[in-house]
Amino acid sequence: MKIGQRRSKQRELILEELKGLTCHPTADELYERVRKRLPNISLGTVYRNLELLADNGFILKIETGGKNRFDGNAEPHPHIRCLQCGKVDDVMSKVTTPEITEKQARGYDVKGCSIEFFGICPDCNRNIH
Ligand SMILES: [Zn+2]
Ligand SMILES: [Zn+2]
Repeated sequence: MKIGQRRSKQRELILEELKGLTCHPTADELYERVRKRLPNISLGTVYRNLELLADNGFILKIETGGKNRFDGNAEPHPHIRCLQCGKVDDVMSKVTTPEITEKQARGYDVKGCSIEFFGICPDCNRNIH
């Protein structure tokens, strides 16, 4: 499906809402926001559109092992994730995606590369000490 030709109104709005956020929301969190503007939208629609937007390179999907998070900034950039609460922030550091050869990719059809730091966020750190 060519996303550029068939961008539904719902998808426009989901994309617009996500691009206005820097908190890397889960689909559920984004659904809560989109619902305020489109009360009839379903969670399934939000999920489907987020997956579609991510597959087509309009947004980034951050696989966290738990619930996926989404990022309106589709340019590759590093993230830092809290091991305690799961929150994800941007890391303001320039990283270049490592180049790999076809042989190094072991026959995989490479779709992308993500760099992630992890640790304990300031909020969680305060609670520990
Ligand atoms: Zn935390
Ligand atoms: Zn990000």
